[in-house]
Amino acid sequence: MNRLSPVRYITVHHDGMHPFFDTDQRATAARIEAIRRAHRLRGWGDIGYHYVVDRAGRVWEGRSLRYQGAHVKNHNYANIGIVALGNFDRQQPSQAQLASMRQLVSLLMDRYHVPASQVSTHQEWAPTACPGRYRQQFMNTTRRQGRLG
Ligand SMILES: [Zn+2]
Repeated sequence: MNRLSPVRYITVHHDGMHPFFDTDQRATAARIEAIRRAHRLRGWGDIGYHYVVDRAGRVWEGRSLRYQGAHVKNHNYANIGIVALGNFDRQQPSQAQLASMRQLVSLLMDRYHVPASQVSTHQEWAPTACPGRYRQQFMNTTRRQGRLG
């Protein structure tokens, strides 16, 4: 895996699998492991995302920030990937999930001096349904309000 640094972008995703509502740690760990396994089967070094936000709002470490992620084809350079568990074309993100993502994004923006113009969703990079229509709507609304995440 290549080194991540520098950090210039932050990109938000959903996992896009079947809807997921569990908040307990065991079910959550199993969901994350399914994603990691699918990414390893593509020949990648580890799960493609740097952070995973679960339905209870917990933040899990994915791929170490030392390494470049694998989450936006041809745009992984200097790009931190955050995935929220669930399919936001078919379910709403939980309030806890949205609150945690907002906190995580703003912490990473501060730490790495990433401007708001470089915080995106997956579909703003490339044609894809990710991060789902409900999550995209939320991003559009918070941007209009001058907030992010
Ligand atoms: Zn995505």
